[in-house]
Amino acid sequence: MYQLLDGKLLSAQIKEEIKLEVESLMAQGKRAPNLVAVIVGNDPASETYVNSKARNCEAVGMQSSVIRLDENISEEKLLQQINLLNNDKNVDGFIVQMPLPKHINEQKIIETISPEKDVDGFHPINLGKMMLGQEAFVSATPMGIMEMLKRYNIDTKGKHAVVIGRSNIVGTPISLLLSRNTNPGNCTVTLCHSQTKNLKEICLQADIIVAAIGKKHFVTADMVKDGAVIIDVGINRIAGEKKIYGDVDFDNVAPKSSFITPVPGGVGLMTIVSLMLNTLKSAKAKR
Ligand code: NAD
Repeated sequence: MYQLLDGKLLSAQIKEEIKLEVESLMAQGKRAPNLVAVIVGNDPASETYVNSKARNCEAVGMQSSVIRLDENISEEKLLQQINLLNNDKNVDGFIVQMPLPKHINEQKIIETISPEKDVDGFHPINLGKMMLGQEAFVSATPMGIMEMLKRYNIDTKGKHAVVIGRSNIVGTPISLLLSRNTNPGNCTVTLCHSQTKNLKEICLQADIIVAAIGKKHFVTADMVKDGAVIIDVGINRIAGEKKIYGDVDFDNVAPKSSFITPVPGGVGLMTIVSLMLNTLKSAKAKR
């Protein structure tokens, strides 16, 4: 019988912990940590995500606001907005919601965010420090997955982890974190991507699978060995449907697994609390 890696339960516990820390900061006469989200254009998925961040922050006593910018904003104007946030002493961390409109260079935007306020952990300095095992803002989704493995006491040492997807925000950083000499960590990692041959055979050797592909129900039961731990990062929307789907065919994979994350209610909620933890860390570092 498998056990659910319950992001709802865990994120509620972590939010309680954050709330206590925020209360303690405020009891010392300090202001509440402040997270700002910048959103350009009207992408409904981004809007949902950003609103959910704001609600979650408010629930733990953190400050949160959303800066909404027109989708035709020039790159220069957006860079000016970022510099304002970099210099605003009342802002501990901010994120610029991706994707951005095509006329804006995303990498340039990321590199303009001050690394000390880059709570998404996308800046090359934070990614580089993370790679070296130094103190850094780790991007929220990989950080949330590591926290989940830790709090469920999942034994990762010496295990074979297969990560599917090599994006800069999920696949690549989680493969590095899992391979590090830490607990959780110490995995032997295989990083698979769109050019990988024999994906099914590789997955069948996995003790842990992290699926970050972006294709509904891509990981099927015939790709999973008995007792594997399954982490489903995917958030896939089908036109005309409200429901979201993971990258894993949950109903058929779950009975073969030992632990598995649901979608929704898994990694997505851990991502949001990780962003809040990074903002809290930034606020504490400044005082
Ligand atoms: P991405 O599109 O940047 O990367 C997808 C990766 O999948 C690529 O590296 C590609 O090589 C790989 N891939 C594509 N087809 C493949 C195939 N046939 N075989 C093997 N590999 C293949 O995606 P991303 O930003 O990493 O996001 C992945 C998924 O996770 C998306 O559904 C996204 O919405 C979701 N996501 C969820 C959260 C969360 O908080 N839960 C956070 C970020 C992303």
